[in-house]
Amino acid sequence: ATPTAVMVATGKGAAQGVLIKGGNALESAQKVVKYIVFDKTGTLTSGEPVVVGTKLFQNVALKVFFDLVASAEVNSEHPLAKAIIEYAKSLQGTGCKDLLWLPEVKDFKSIAGQGVTAEVSGKRICVGNTRLMAENGIMVSIDVAEQLKETEVMARTGVLGAIGGEIVGLIAIADPVKPEAAAVISYLKSMGIHSLMVTGDNWGTARAIAREIGIDNVIAEAQPSVKAEKIKELQATGMAVAMVGDGINDSPALVAADVGMAIGAGTDIAVEAADIVLMKNNLEDVVTAIDLSRKTFTRIR
Ligand code: ADP
Ligand code: MG
Repeated sequence: ATPTAVMVATGKGAAQGVLIKGGNALESAQKVVKYIVFDKTGTLTSGEPVVVGTKLFQNVALKVFFDLVASAEVNSEHPLAKAIIEYAKSLQGTGCKDLLWLPEVKDFKSIAGQGVTAEVSGKRICVGNTRLMAENGIMVSIDVAEQLKETEVMARTGVLGAIGGEIVGLIAIADPVKPEAAAVISYLKSMGIHSLMVTGDNWGTARAIAREIGIDNVIAEAQPSVKAEKIKELQATGMAVAMVGDGINDSPALVAADVGMAIGAGTDIAVEAADIVLMKNNLEDVVTAIDLSRKTFTRIR
């Protein structure tokens, strides 16, 4: 394609909210004919999860539990943290932008793909998945494990909250799939493109979401390095691979992919790592990008 054709195409893309970072990025999109790997949270789902239920295992008031776990999450940028903080706010009173009451938080740590730990009001708080609990030597009882499984088969993420080394509550968080997700996956299938889902979330929730949108190839509980490894594994078949993601944890995979596509609302690091940015956060623009590339680069053949 001529430089002019590339300029016209990137201009067209930009006008539609598809930011293509140069000629190479544009060209790489038409090479994707077989595999697209999607992150789940914030990519296939809205990324604006909400707390839909809580199960307490200890005799602790709901508000006290949420004051502690939300305080531990205050410094986290994770969407799940935001959902927990929003819910804690609603328990403290309505219409307030910040938590009304914020206990002293020390020693905050965010562990990618696991959750957060902090010392809140002198208590050790862990908020996250079973992996986080295991790493912190916190026992997950059979009762808790069963409740967690029940939460997950309903396509909800179960976040465990531990206080002082004991699991006190299970927070069920729902992250609705994007309205266009299923249609895009099925359209890609009609183009001969297989969609895969690679997520740091647990297997139960991942499978339930995948089923809902028609993806049969799922890898869950994946560390960021696993996401990138999966891209390389697919590339080893000789095919170009696209990755669509929004998180810091997606950036190694976005870089490894032949075409990295970031959700515009995603983290700065993902947006920087990507070749193409989907500013409207709409998955239909994955197809828009491929179409633009194909139209620009098939003319010269
Ligand atoms: P994804 O790959 O689906 O975007 P992440 O890798 O960001 O997911 O997170 C994977 C899992 O780690 C989450 O489903 C959750 O169980 C846990 N987790 C990560 N960050 C947090 C947090 N701030 N609070 C609670 N749980 C978290
Ligand atoms: Mg994500």
